Amino acid sequence: MKLELREITEQRVRIKRDLPPTILGLDGLSQYRVVDAVSLDLQVSKDGSKYWLGGQIDALLKIECGRCLDMFEFKVKIDIDLLYLPLSDDKGASDVLVEESDLRAAYYQDEQIDLAQLVMEQFQLAMPMKPLCRDGCQGLCVMCGGNKNFESCQCVESWEDPRLSGLKSLLEQ
Ligand SMILES: [Zn+2]
Ligand SMILES: [Zn+2]
Repeated sequence: MKLELREITEQRVRIKRDLPPTILGLDGLSQYRVVDAVSLDLQVSKDGSKYWLGGQIDALLKIECGRCLDMFEFKVKIDIDLLYLPLSDDKGASDVLVEESDLRAAYYQDEQIDLAQLVMEQFQLAMPMKPLCRDGCQGLCVMCGGNKNFESCQCVESWEDPRLSGLKSLLEQ
C-alpha cells in the first residue's frame, strides 16, 4: 500500500489506514505473523520535498517464544517519527543533508511512500531480542521435549550437581 505524495496538497494531513495482513508480503522467514489488520494513524507534514511522518502503528502479531517455541500473541504499539527525503537517481542518498539529526531519515521514490515496507521495518525493530510467552516460561523439557508450561512430565535429569546433593539431603531432613 502506497501513500501518494502528490495527493498531499495541504501542509499537514492526518492519514488513517488499515492494512490487511495479506499485503505485508511476509516470506515465511519472518519471526512473526500478522494476526489482524494493522492500523496506521499518522500525521504527515510537508515541507517542500520533505515529509515528516509522526504517529502510531497498532498491530497484533504472533511470535515464537524463545524458550518453549510456542506461538503467542504479541501486541505492538509503535511510535513513528520519521523524516522522508526524496531519493533521486542523480543524487545519492548520502548527499542529502539531514539537518534534523535527531530524526530518523528514510527515503521515498516516485512520489510514493511504501506504507507496507514502513510497517515491516518497524515490526523488525519492535521484535524483542528474547521473546517470552509469559513471565517465567518453563520452557521445554530437555529429556522428552514436552512443554513444561502445560504438562508435567516424569523425566528426571540424570545429572545432579554433587555440591547440591549435600544441601538437598539437609533440606529433606
Ligand atoms: Zn514460552
Ligand atoms: Zn520430560
